[in-house]
Amino acid sequence: MVERAESESRKLLGRLRDTMASEAAGQERLDQITHLTADSMGTEVCSIYLFRDDETLELCATQGLNPESVHQTRMKLGEGLVGRVARTGKVINAADAPSSKGFRYMPETGEEIYSSFLGVPIQRLGEKLGVLVVQSKEAREFSADEVYALEVVAMVLAEMTELGAFVGEGAALRARHTQPVLIRGITGQEGSAEGYVWLHEPRVVVTNLVGDNPDVERQRLTDAVENLRVSVDQLLAGASGETGDSEQVQVLEAYRMFANSKGWLRRMEENIGRGLSAEAAVEKEQSDVRARMMQATDSYLRERLQDLDDLSNRLLRILTGQGNSTGADLPENPILVARNIGPGELLEYGRQLRGIVLEEGSVGSHAAIVARALAIPLVINAKRIQIEALNGDHVMVDGDQGIVHLRPDDTVVNAFRDKMAMQAKAQERYASIRDKPAVTLCGKTIRLDMNAGLMADLPSLESSGAEGVGLFRTELQFLVRSKMPRRNELAALYARVLDAAQGKRVVFRTLDIGSDKVLPYMKAEDEPNPALGWRAIRVGLDKPGVMRMQLQALLRAANGRALSIMFPFVAQYEEYTAARAEVDKALARERKLGHAIPESLEIGAMLETPSLAFACNKFYQEVEFLSIGGNDLKQFFFAADRENERVRRRYDTLNVSFLTFLENIVDRCATTDTRLSFCGEDAGRPVEALCLAAIGLHSLSMRPASVGPVKHLLRRCNLDDVRQVIHDARDAGEQSVRPAVMEYLRGLN
Ligand code: PEP
Ligand code: MG
Repeated sequence: MVERAESESRKLLGRLRDTMASEAAGQERLDQITHLTADSMGTEVCSIYLFRDDETLELCATQGLNPESVHQTRMKLGEGLVGRVARTGKVINAADAPSSKGFRYMPETGEEIYSSFLGVPIQRLGEKLGVLVVQSKEAREFSADEVYALEVVAMVLAEMTELGAFVGEGAALRARHTQPVLIRGITGQEGSAEGYVWLHEPRVVVTNLVGDNPDVERQRLTDAVENLRVSVDQLLAGASGETGDSEQVQVLEAYRMFANSKGWLRRMEENIGRGLSAEAAVEKEQSDVRARMMQATDSYLRERLQDLDDLSNRLLRILTGQGNSTGADLPENPILVARNIGPGELLEYGRQLRGIVLEEGSVGSHAAIVARALAIPLVINAKRIQIEALNGDHVMVDGDQGIVHLRPDDTVVNAFRDKMAMQAKAQERYASIRDKPAVTLCGKTIRLDMNAGLMADLPSLESSGAEGVGLFRTELQFLVRSKMPRRNELAALYARVLDAAQGKRVVFRTLDIGSDKVLPYMKAEDEPNPALGWRAIRVGLDKPGVMRMQLQALLRAANGRALSIMFPFVAQYEEYTAARAEVDKALARERKLGHAIPESLEIGAMLETPSLAFACNKFYQEVEFLSIGGNDLKQFFFAADRENERVRRRYDTLNVSFLTFLENIVDRCATTDTRLSFCGEDAGRPVEALCLAAIGLHSLSMRPASVGPVKHLLRRCNLDDVRQVIHDARDAGEQSVRPAVMEYLRGLN
């Protein structure tokens, strides 16, 4: 029985292949397929429904239904049995369709006389394209083999769609990958860019779907799987040697498990038995995995299915000979498109990229951190970008709005270019004041520093007009590596940073790991609430080995020059004194070894927890400087996770409660004569920066690209007036001072 089914579906596939190879136009091909399928399956009807848009299906070809209804009959996603197959991506096999739940009678098709219904989704790698249906008068349920045969036809249809087989005069389908697409994601890094798509992992295109000789195809599959196993073993050997029990090793171990899985191989061999080529068999299995992945709610299961998906891609590359590199050159103005990308890989592309679009990613991901350091516009969470984009496609990335225009039409192109021209003009304005101080109309000078973390940031010190580096996030160097850096490496790196700064102040913040920043080579702690967990100075004090190594590296890098060190996430006085004691110990050791001691050394703390705002006066007197880490401070003040898109923007930084809280800190520091600055992201937003300056924060550290816009605004404002506006809004019972401040700014024209 199985053999008969196998040879049946192989016969059907053979006939389909002739259609694929024929010169027929798009519609004619679809018609031939419905005819062939109905004939082979012994049903009166076979119909193809394809998506017109995301919500609408259209009858595009039929054998058996009223031919007049082709391109006339449409239905919404979820409507009728066909709509239900499309929505759920699941097969419906009904012996008595008219009495099935959701059946919809469509008089124009003459459908009511057909009793049994079998509908399968037409989808390619998780992308829904339409529904393939057979119907017959005889009330019967279709066998598993018949369902399989129809699924294979649907897969062939999906592949042919991908290859543009149905496009042409009077075609049923619009050409894929030719239409403009707008994708809404999330801002990872602001800025706009225009360029051409460069797929980090190009799609594998399977052109030969049908296998003539199953033995040959099975052998090809076996060889490819063997090849895959060897390569995974090699990767694993390399990774284990380097990094011990890292996450990467775990992923590779999952790969190895799947590569050796008998079930996986058996399913693919069965696909070959039914007439598919080896690569089509892998892709069919991959499509099934993707369908399961869409349904999976458990995150662990999803991750494993993701691994299996990656592995199938590798196998396809081996079988088709299409490597990661297609041999193509990076296009002009490349815009990188990827599902996700590691920081190391991103750094390799470096500044040649104009923009980056990621299907996944998060604001705090390492890729986002690197993109920010390189000042490359980045959109994350751009759903479907991998499916929609082809290498070389024209694309416009709006990092400010988190929008991607793929293959934009002329109107969008023109509007976008206007916007970019305006931004370029603004940049010119900022460049013209680069060497001028940020002096307000009331005569107050505000110090503007920049935040940094990678060597790639340092050229910005010159170009942005920043006075120094107010926050050097040392963890970035740890995050972009696959193993723990050594002391000498770090010392050399910090020395290069100080060299590049040419005497400008650089505030090195000691390692701030934990929470969203997890080192791949350190065992992650499984904590219920990592943002409130074992992170930053808490790790540094509990396990001081790395902190000591880092302090030594900093002292050696300074080699007698001035040095500023800042401890992250200090929540109470004692943490500061304990960390400070570590510096003293390190100093004593360097002295003993006869090494040069910094000509001046200042030790500060970040104020990122509300508790530190209320620390004793002694702390305020003792600490040499404080920098408010507004990103963390705000999340704890409002109890709103900075990584959670749902709540992240809920509370305005210009909320009167928060500004009042900050004002209290400013007052305390004024009383104790403590040097105070602000280095969270808000310092780089001009309106926020203006308000911070108005309430007395006269030293702000921000991303380099923000220095120009912030300085431009500050130079046009009177801080006394802005302070008055803020206080008036508060007295009037406003929740946020933003509307009042914006009104003031409009008044300035
Ligand atoms: C902050 O919390 O505001 C800050 C500057 O530190 P990070 O963003 O690195 O946590
Ligand atoms: Mg912080």
